[in-house]
Amino acid sequence: ILKINGLEKTYTSGNKQLTVLHNISFDVEQGQTFSIVGPSGSGKTTLLGLCAGLDAPNSGSVELCGHDLNTLNEDQRAQLRNREVGFIFQNFQLLPTLTALENVSVPLELQGAKHAAKRSMELLDQVGLADRFHHYPSQLSGGEQQRVALARAFSNSPSILFADEPTGNLDEETGEKVIKLLFDLNKASNTTLVIVSHDLDLANRTQQILRLKGGQILTNQPTAAH
Ligand code: ATP
Repeated sequence: ILKINGLEKTYTSGNKQLTVLHNISFDVEQGQTFSIVGPSGSGKTTLLGLCAGLDAPNSGSVELCGHDLNTLNEDQRAQLRNREVGFIFQNFQLLPTLTALENVSVPLELQGAKHAAKRSMELLDQVGLADRFHHYPSQLSGGEQQRVALARAFSNSPSILFADEPTGNLDEETGEKVIKLLFDLNKASNTTLVIVSHDLDLANRTQQILRLKGGQILTNQPTAAH
């Protein structure tokens, strides 16, 4: 479902250039649970953004759900993401002026989905927030906000879900609930999971771990969960 070949990424700020990813190649299979680990600054978030077509590499290719992202324009990439991809970010990225329900339903409505409100209620119910529909993000705990973000990420029934430090801002118990929701989704819908995490316990529960250091792949190995 994801084929990465020879990716290079260089950031330019002022007259300085910094190559943060070097010759990265790997594949993720449909339905696989895959994690990317490595020290701070090793390029994990950058790599996730390239995989999802949020940013373009300087060279190399990304094939996502059968499409070579280099051959798609911005609109086509956005359409592919709306159709096939879900995202979860460490800092949740909920819209503060929308309620929990609206945070899930508005993106669905924008994509022209029918029964967006009903579907959003079902999704929020699924993540245990049936009694929080009309709360604003500021009225929710971190774990609740992350579960709203999960409901939003699940809303388009993605084939692949990218999660950047999904438990980074959560206590252990709440983090565990969020992880369980992710793995449940993988089992129930065969949704591919690509997770960036500092948490080796979490990584070891995925089937494959890619270790990055200094923008290069150290290892790409199956785990005992394989
Ligand atoms: P962390 O675990 O701390 O989140 P990471 O492994 O996700 O780190 P990235 O966020 O991908 O690392 O960053 C990799 C390198 O690229 C870092 O040195 C960072 O400073 C640099 N970098 C990231 N984004 C940009 C940008 N937009 N412009 C310039 N440099 C950037």
